[in-house]
Amino acid sequence: MRYDNDLDWQDEALCRGLSVEIFFPREDDEDTQALAKAICDHCPVRVKCAIYALHNPELEGIWGGLTEKDRRKKKRNRNQQARRDRVREQNTGMLVP
Ligand code: SF4
Repeated sequence: MRYDNDLDWQDEALCRGLSVEIFFPREDDEDTQALAKAICDHCPVRVKCAIYALHNPELEGIWGGLTEKDRRKKKRNRNQQARRDRVREQNTGMLVP
């Protein structure tokens, strides 16, 4: 899904009106994190929310069902995959005249 700065999706957020504390738990508070993730699982704008958070690394808390740690891991995996793709592309280019 393409990223844009449009935040209209937040109008449909399932977390609207819920306690902010649910989505900004301490890093060791696994129960609250699980509750937030369960809410996100049913949110109609989860994908847009996650993409927004992945493009705004300064954000804290749980967005799109992802904790900060989840987002860092996703970003790391995405960067590693991009590096592997570049190497594969370069190697393919060397084989094809
Ligand atoms: S995915 Fe979670 S954090 Fe994002 S808008 Fe929905 S309920 Fe809120």
